[in-house]
Amino acid sequence: MRRLEHFPSKLRALVSRRWIGELNYGAARGEFEVAASIETLLNERKGASTVASSCRNRKTMSKTTEKITKTDQEWRAELSPTAYNVLREKGTERPFSNDTKNAAPGVYKCTGCGQELFTSDAKFDSGTGWPSFSQPISADAVEEETDTKFFMKRTEILCSRCDGHLGHVFPDGPAPTGLRYCMNGVALKFEPKETK
Ligand SMILES: [Zn+2]
Repeated sequence: MRRLEHFPSKLRALVSRRWIGELNYGAARGEFEVAASIETLLNERKGASTVASSCRNRKTMSKTTEKITKTDQEWRAELSPTAYNVLREKGTERPFSNDTKNAAPGVYKCTGCGQELFTSDAKFDSGTGWPSFSQPISADAVEEETDTKFFMKRTEILCSRCDGHLGHVFPDGPAPTGLRYCMNGVALKFEPKETK
């Protein structure tokens, strides 16, 4: 487990007093959540673009999904500031800000482009404050990238259609996949299943 004091002084120096509580809470949840808290802080302090552009390698590339490309200006006009920060600048929303704990049956779609990403069947309560899923709706729906920000290796999850950043996947989820897709709620749009 990586606690705050184990982070390099450069990162520690960025952590203001009001964040200490969240970071200590995050430490109890594991190093990834600590990293997410620091990521959020960095985003608030200086904008995410400089942080997000570092050390990324495209790992997989869907060949079947037709890409949606828009200018930065178009994305800014369409998305809320928080959704823009997450989807286009790879930010992380604050935990417990957008996890609806919605147990109703339905589909979670990409806020950026409307592509179907997850079903309610795969959703579980991870206790992290971020909506968590054991698997995507299909293998084509998301893409993975290796993310080596903050001195650790994480697997980033993107929408395969608009390349929007959704969150990360971790190998500590429930059966049957053993995976935890830790998503930003603001990047997902819940659509309840139609009842007859
Ligand atoms: Zn999308």
